[in-house]
Amino acid sequence: SNKILAIVGRPNVGKSTFFNRLTESREAIVDEMSGVTRDRNYGKAEWNGKVFSVIDTGGYVVNSDDVFEAEINKQVHLAIDEADVILFVVDVESGITDLDDAIAAILRKSRKKIIVAVNKVDNNQRILDAQEFYGFGLGEIFCISSMTGSGTGDLLDQVIEAF
Ligand code: GDP
Ligand code: MG
Repeated sequence: SNKILAIVGRPNVGKSTFFNRLTESREAIVDEMSGVTRDRNYGKAEWNGKVFSVIDTGGYVVNSDDVFEAEINKQVHLAIDEADVILFVVDVESGITDLDDAIAAILRKSRKKIIVAVNKVDNNQRILDAQEFYGFGLGEIFCISSMTGSGTGDLLDQVIEAF
């Protein structure tokens, strides 16, 4: 059966960077500055011989504070509807923001399997900082660096198990 992993989270946490690493496509647009990414990107991934689909959500204007929470919430609800497993990506550099809390509240109410990925854990020191994300009450957190690939293997093992 064709399982679907949806990647959700507020802008700039590294969703598209992870998507690109996972799908080895260049479909998702990673913008170093700020700007617009396309609404949703679909890709195929393979881990331990299991092939599955991946949806990268985004598509909001990433300029400064001008992020529409309603638009992000829409993407989260779409993901809950169509995915088998949801990957909630957050950013250890910024810590928990109000938008993260808003997304976490929606996810807690859903019956879908949620996996929390704390991204930008580029060095071991940041593992300590990542512990605050247990505060979401969404279970185990996975520290990853989408840039280096660190921790992504353990995370994908968990994704496959959750399907
Ligand atoms: P998205 O808006 O959630 O899709 O985020 P992007 O994938 O576009 O990444 C936003 C910014 O974070 C870019 O400048 C990325 O290079 C950077 N970034 C992504 N992953 C990592 C990571 O693991 N470590 C660090 N230090 N930066 C990252
Ligand atoms: Mg993106």
